[in-house]
Amino acid sequence: MTDTTDPTDGDAERERVSVPSEVELPRLLDFYELQTEDQTQIHEFYDNLRDGRLTTTQCRNCDEVHFPPRIVCPECTGDDLEYVDLPHKGELFAFSEVRGGLPLGLSEHDVPYVVAVVDLGPIRLSGRVDGASYGDLEIGDPVSLKVVEIDGPTDEERVFYRFEPADGDAK
Ligand SMILES: [Zn+2]
Repeated sequence: MTDTTDPTDGDAERERVSVPSEVELPRLLDFYELQTEDQTQIHEFYDNLRDGRLTTTQCRNCDEVHFPPRIVCPECTGDDLEYVDLPHKGELFAFSEVRGGLPLGLSEHDVPYVVAVVDLGPIRLSGRVDGASYGDLEIGDPVSLKVVEIDGPTDEERVFYRFEPADGDAK
């Protein structure tokens, strides 16, 4: 007995389904933190950065300066912290080049790029260095802060910091 509506029959008309031509970046794999007050307790850091100021927390109890910003002092466990300005110029303490294996959401066409540990004086922090290739740089080179806007899978206006080579002038 033959059922002419058998969907496995090669001649039967089949429903067509499609898959997306590109996959949207899942929010959980987003490299950058959400930056608003309802999402993070260090929102003031991002608010200041959006205004062009690199800041971090300093403990009013023991004077320790932290980076990244904290909500509790890792030195004395006090929670009386204030935001203080950091210098926008520093020196390359160490650097390397990223050639591949980027996290999702960071385009492979960006590679290679330079990441560095930058000595700002009060603290050292890591960040990307734009505007130079690995071979252009030496330990101790002066760099200055730049703030970039982040495009991402959220409507939030987000920012982050990077560095770029600077002339040797004092800040
Ligand atoms: Zn402290």
